[in-house]
Amino acid sequence: MALRIQTSRKIRWEGGLFVTDRNPGRALDVVRRIEVMCDFVESEGVREAVNKYVPVTMPFDPGSLGFDIPLWVGLGIVGLWAALDAFGERGGLPDQQCSRCGKSCIAGRFGGQRSLQELEDLRHLYAHNYAGDADDQYFDLRWRRHVLARGVVVPLLSGGRFDGERVHLDLPQLRFYARAARDVLQRFV
Ligand SMILES: [Zn+2]
Repeated sequence: MALRIQTSRKIRWEGGLFVTDRNPGRALDVVRRIEVMCDFVESEGVREAVNKYVPVTMPFDPGSLGFDIPLWVGLGIVGLWAALDAFGERGGLPDQQCSRCGKSCIAGRFGGQRSLQELEDLRHLYAHNYAGDADDQYFDLRWRRHVLARGVVVPLLSGGRFDGERVHLDLPQLRFYARAARDVLQRFV
């Protein structure tokens, strides 16, 4: 039996671009749900679990329960990027070649601000590399990064830091990039 794929929105062709949905509501919803991770990790329940189960010899944070916060922050950043990318495609935003990386990227598409340039570089670190580890392949000459550079310490607008090889992220950084993504999307509401 043939599968029938149902689509809830019709594709329109406007000014040379495919448009299915100009409403950023779904992207904003993804941003909100990613942000909830910060609320959860900082919740009273997790605090109680840390107090109850983390041995006194270990740091009193959820990481000592085996939850790798920097890794999940990085994956949250990938999700923020995906929400922006999905809206950019469905909302018919024109592809703009970015002056920094020379490609069509989120920063180029949504205005080129530094926060989005950081978001673009960071999402590559987690979507195509090993959990924030900027190896030789990350700095391959085929890819021009926006703000990160091999062997260079780079302070990030979010308060995070790239030490030349690895990026150091925590919950405030995820909140920062979620806010940046929301600010961009709300321009289209
Ligand atoms: Zn770019």
